[in-house]
Amino acid sequence: MKAQIISIGNELLIGDTVNTNASWLGEFLTGLGFTVTRVHTISDGLQIIKDTLNQAISESDLIICTGGLGPTHDDMTKKAVAELFDVGYKLDEQTLEYVKSMFKKRNIPFSKSNYSQAEVPENAEVLFNKAGTAPGMWFNEDCCIAVLPGVPYEMKYLMEKKVSEKLREVFGDIGYVYSHYIKTAGIGESTLSDEVLGDLSNHFQNGVSLAYLPAAGGVTLRLNGHGSTKEEAKQYVQALKDIIYQKAGKYIYGEGKDYSISEAVGKLLKEQGIRISVAESCTGGLIANTFTDVPGSSNYFKGGIISYANEVKVNQLGVSEKDLVGVGAVSKEVALQMAKGVAERLGTEIGISTTGIAGPGGGTEEKPVGTVWMGFYKKGEEHFAIKAMFTKDRLINKERTKMVLLEATRRILAGIEEMPYDLKKQLS
Ligand code: ATP
Ligand code: MG
Repeated sequence: MKAQIISIGNELLIGDTVNTNASWLGEFLTGLGFTVTRVHTISDGLQIIKDTLNQAISESDLIICTGGLGPTHDDMTKKAVAELFDVGYKLDEQTLEYVKSMFKKRNIPFSKSNYSQAEVPENAEVLFNKAGTAPGMWFNEDCCIAVLPGVPYEMKYLMEKKVSEKLREVFGDIGYVYSHYIKTAGIGESTLSDEVLGDLSNHFQNGVSLAYLPAAGGVTLRLNGHGSTKEEAKQYVQALKDIIYQKAGKYIYGEGKDYSISEAVGKLLKEQGIRISVAESCTGGLIANTFTDVPGSSNYFKGGIISYANEVKVNQLGVSEKDLVGVGAVSKEVALQMAKGVAERLGTEIGISTTGIAGPGGGTEEKPVGTVWMGFYKKGEEHFAIKAMFTKDRLINKERTKMVLLEATRRILAGIEEMPYDLKKQLS
């Protein structure tokens, strides 16, 4: 079964908006067993929409169109489809009532032009859109066509809830897809895939696939299951998940697309009934910020000191002036003193610290841009620093520093010896 995707919108062509809808749809349709043969990205023009639809109809069994469904003048998609099929419009009562109620709720007057939101080509089957105001449309003519809003979450909602059902009706046994995310940190994509997980292809025949999604400081694994029922798809994913945990368990900090490393650290701190504080130089508050992103973090996160200037390191954290002059701010000694200093001053069991040259300027031969020292202190138990060498990009360096230090903290709390990227613990 051949499918094509048509992404409509001037903003996609001038580079204002990245066409994430097309990549999401490509993956979704492929997962259901369609072969996606073409993605068209076109402007909000009446003629080009008609021409592209005509071409796609002649080449495929299914077309998914997104964008240009709104009530404004530059939204042409509905008109193009009505002209293509040479039909008039009908009013969809359910959508009209819904749009009216939305306006009422927000206390905005309902103008005549808003009626057009509820109008669809006569031959359309309406896909009611609870996630927005413009309804989706389904056409079953020579070819099946779904016409959906451009707003990504509305499009996804309609694909998952409405279009999937239509596809099942028309194309029969296309099965179910189930996706699951596993988050790892402190290990590179190639080490994880080549050395730790190895060749898992003999686990893939059973309708399951694995994708590596690398980002600064962490690789997310996406497991996709495809089965004839949702349960079956889930079972395939579970089987692969078990193998991944067996092989790579110590690198996994959590599950779920949006699960964060600070959540993982927070969970362990809470379980162990201890608290943490942070002394940040090159990360400038980033780590404190991610702790406070998590609801309930006041249970274990006490606070931090952003000690960007040397005098703050000395006055607020008790770092030795002699060391700052002697070995410099970006050093093992200073990272160690910052971590211990913040734990003692804020009264927490654990203190962590960052000091580095985030770039793009400020490097020397001895300490090139990207050199970062991170300190860890746990009262009576551990006191060490680790050194990482990152890149020239300032923001990526901050993000990586955060990930590495929090992953190091997680591993210590979880009793895992190995440090992120196998970095060596350096003691005072
Ligand atoms: P609405 O009812 O909200 O007007 P619409 O169908 O008219 O929906 P557009 O106006 O084309 O949608 O786009 C709405 C938003 O969705 C814009 O912010 C746009 O940047 C975004 N968007 C549109 N198409 C895509 C796409 N292919 N990928 C990612 N984002 C998109
Ligand atoms: Mg548009």
